[in-house]
Amino acid sequence: MCEFCHQHGEGKKWYLQAENYAQDLLSDLNRRTYIQHFFENPERLKKNIGLLDSLNKLPVFVQAVVKPLLINRQKRKHYGQVLPIEEIEKIFGFINSVVRLPCICRQASMGSEQRYCYGLSMEPGPDTEMGRIIRSIGADYLTGPETSGLETVSPEEALNQLREHEKKNMIHSVWTFVTPFIGGICNCDLNCMAMRATGKAYPVMFRAEFLAAVDIEACSGCQACMRACHFGAISYSIRDEKASIDPLKCYGCGICRVLCRKDAIALVERSSLAEAANQW
Ligand code: SF4
Ligand code: SF4
Repeated sequence: MCEFCHQHGEGKKWYLQAENYAQDLLSDLNRRTYIQHFFENPERLKKNIGLLDSLNKLPVFVQAVVKPLLINRQKRKHYGQVLPIEEIEKIFGFINSVVRLPCICRQASMGSEQRYCYGLSMEPGPDTEMGRIIRSIGADYLTGPETSGLETVSPEEALNQLREHEKKNMIHSVWTFVTPFIGGICNCDLNCMAMRATGKAYPVMFRAEFLAAVDIEACSGCQACMRACHFGAISYSIRDEKASIDPLKCYGCGICRVLCRKDAIALVERSSLAEAANQW
């Protein structure tokens, strides 16, 4: 299990621990302020990625000191984990309401409102505390047709939307807002700051508790799955005419399964493979 499971899971996976979504955590003023600041200024995110580029140009020994400090800070504030759809289904099994939000990462990187994020709440009903906090920020960047910037969707509708997002090659991730409070699920691709930061050796999300593996007997060698993987984990053997997955690169998102017409890819528990068990 990952570091957050040990710290915040009390024997469960941390994102399946209902207390981490509890409304009383939202009454904390620091957390509310953090959420407001987080959503009100997409430009700041862009600036942070610029700073990361500068960080990567520093001498290696300086990076070795600075990066762990920054990553630990990120873990205390806003950190995520990649989740396959089966784990999202479990979360939606106990969450009481969901609001669909514009993605702040894409607003920063693409300059347009795209609704790929979902605020989660244990509070029943459409007017959740998370929704109230975000509505209160008066974010000028919310320019879409639903100018309130928020839509309430049922957990079932949200799940169907997430399945559609998978077809567009997006991976699912769950996020804290001042850890351990969990406030949302995102659907990430390379337009996301989180993916870009992680790709620049500044991880802001853990890998999933799972790994993908190819059933060699079932694999036809079509190579379709290779198009799905954002992490370069899938390779193709010309000699065997089969795909294979490097467990040390795999994030366990599971989206490669969507493109496999032979049902040749399955997820297994990360802990089942010693070499990748502690690879987060
Ligand atoms: S191989 Fe790539 S796409 Fe498939 S689960 Fe692993 S990281 Fe995700
Ligand atoms: S998509 Fe499926 S059948 Fe095609 S190469 Fe990948 S694992 Fe094999």
